[in-house]
Amino acid sequence: MTTFYPGPSKVYPQVADWAAEACRSGIVSMNHRSPEFMTVTESAIRGLHEKLVLPADYHIALVSSATECWEIVAQSLTEQHSFHPYRGAFGQKWMDYAQRIKPVSDAQRPDVVCVVQNETSNGTQVSMAALAQYRQDYPDAIIAVDAVSSMAGITFNWPLADVWFASVQKCFGLPAGLAVLIYSPRALARAEAIGDRNHYNSLLFLHENFSKFQTPYTPNGLGIYLLDQVLKQVPPIAEVDAVTKRRAANWYAFFEQDMAGSPFSLLIADAEQRSDTVIAVTGSEADIKAVKTAAKQAGLLLGNGYGDWKNTTFRIANFPAISEEEMDLLKRFLMGYVR
Ligand SMILES: *Cc1c(COP(=O)(O)O)cnc(C)c1O
Repeated sequence: MTTFYPGPSKVYPQVADWAAEACRSGIVSMNHRSPEFMTVTESAIRGLHEKLVLPADYHIALVSSATECWEIVAQSLTEQHSFHPYRGAFGQKWMDYAQRIKPVSDAQRPDVVCVVQNETSNGTQVSMAALAQYRQDYPDAIIAVDAVSSMAGITFNWPLADVWFASVQKCFGLPAGLAVLIYSPRALARAEAIGDRNHYNSLLFLHENFSKFQTPYTPNGLGIYLLDQVLKQVPPIAEVDAVTKRRAANWYAFFEQDMAGSPFSLLIADAEQRSDTVIAVTGSEADIKAVKTAAKQAGLLLGNGYGDWKNTTFRIANFPAISEEEMDLLKRFLMGYVR
């Protein structure tokens, strides 16, 4: 089965061998505070800095999911409340979690502006220009960005936000259960001012531990090992970005031109807002259901719709681990729907 699901998504083919090697070599059985394991953690963190070209003074912690990052932002970086200019299901979910921890109080300016850069549910993305506008409009706020389905797929202007996070089961091409949390010196200073130490994953604890390439709890060692391996293999982000954007342009042209006579069209009409990494396609409920079933029979797994668009869309991941050949296979299959 070739999967185009936007998370969990196709893992790099090499992951199977790396996982076997991690077990055979015994690295997954090592104590997470052993020098051997700390070397793996250090190497993964260095790999992230190098391949994603992060600002040298930005810090990295590894946690278990993006959902955990939503809670860390609410617990450790939000004094009163956060502002959530959301455009889809993931942004809304983040707001719901945040508000359970820090209920809204309309009186103050927000401490944190929480932006989902790539809204996986409907295939839209927030431009770097829009992020820059949040910086301007909220100069005192921490800008926190959920980049779960775009980090490691496209380039970002990192200094435009103080916090960036992503779980690895999307553009990193790895199995779920690990997330990368990137934070600026400004975010760390805010965490120190707030002083939250009430949680096992309080940012201050994470920071103290990761400064020594350790974790407050036993981490997903296999996940960290696989992240280190994948980072050794992938090209620098500028190269990945060029490939992702070329493929995205091809997907959008394919639906606008080649698929013009089909029952399917792009969910997002405004080309400016379209995601580079998740293509959302809409049609009638019956047509969407039929194409997903037929695709599955042909060995092609389309992503289901999500949230409000559950039954009237399918989604195609445009992630780096998916090959050009696999994309061509799916395009040939979809062409069968042109009348
Ligand atoms: C997948 C996804 C999440 C959730 O990630 P988890 O690792 O399951 O917590 C959050 N935000 C966006 C935009 C996503 O695509």
